[in-house]
Amino acid sequence: MRNTSKLTAFFKKQILNLIDFLFPPQCPYCDAVIQRSQIMCDTCFHKIHFITGPICARCGWPLPITAVESDEKMLCAKCLKKRKKYDKARAVFFYDTFSRFAILKFKNADRTDLRRFFVHYMLQAGQDLFEKTDIVLPVPMYWTRKAKRKYNQAAILAEEIARKIHKPYAANILVKVRNTHSQENKSGLERIKNVRNAFDVKHKEQIFGKIILLIDDVLTTGSTAQACAKALKKNGAKAVYVLTIARSRHNRY
Ligand SMILES: [Zn+2]
Ligand SMILES: [Zn+2]
Repeated sequence: MRNTSKLTAFFKKQILNLIDFLFPPQCPYCDAVIQRSQIMCDTCFHKIHFITGPICARCGWPLPITAVESDEKMLCAKCLKKRKKYDKARAVFFYDTFSRFAILKFKNADRTDLRRFFVHYMLQAGQDLFEKTDIVLPVPMYWTRKAKRKYNQAAILAEEIARKIHKPYAANILVKVRNTHSQENKSGLERIKNVRNAFDVKHKEQIFGKIILLIDDVLTTGSTAQACAKALKKNGAKAVYVLTIARSRHNRY
């Protein structure tokens, strides 16, 4: 029995070696050949603009380094002025030419294997959110778009994050009730109009009085997150936390 499993493992390794020889794993950014255990090449990894240092306790926006001298809950100027529909937001890195490329591959090019890399860092970026989280939900995709794309990238991330933090995951509570145009290349106001009333909640008893961790790939102006949070809170959610892979440096409303 032991010898059989050893033999199976040996053959598995040989097959993987042969696959690597025929189709060497490549860096998703620059196509340089990498090892199977690597997500990307070292050169590309160092180009990513991770969000580090003190951040706004609410929206996660980076704050000047002097802010650490205070014991108060640190908030950015925008959050001091106006409360958002969601309660907290965290992201791993900035959305720029470099990270956009990887996210688009993950979204549109069947590179669902990239979720391992994204989830690894999302677990670090969102660590102050998990203790209070009751349930993990993805930002939903309208069914026609999902049928075209084959998968919802936010759901892939949310499911894995829920498993890692040992919290329940539900894909069918927050739903998109109408198709919307792509948010890309739209102004802040156009984005808000585009997603207005686009989300609804099913089985609201499952979120009543709960703290929701909402997962998406990118936070741009935050209009999608706001529309989702509005629908969740209208249906009884106590609080909504948002965790994304990336967030825009610009377009802050
Ligand atoms: Zn590379
Ligand atoms: Zn803020």
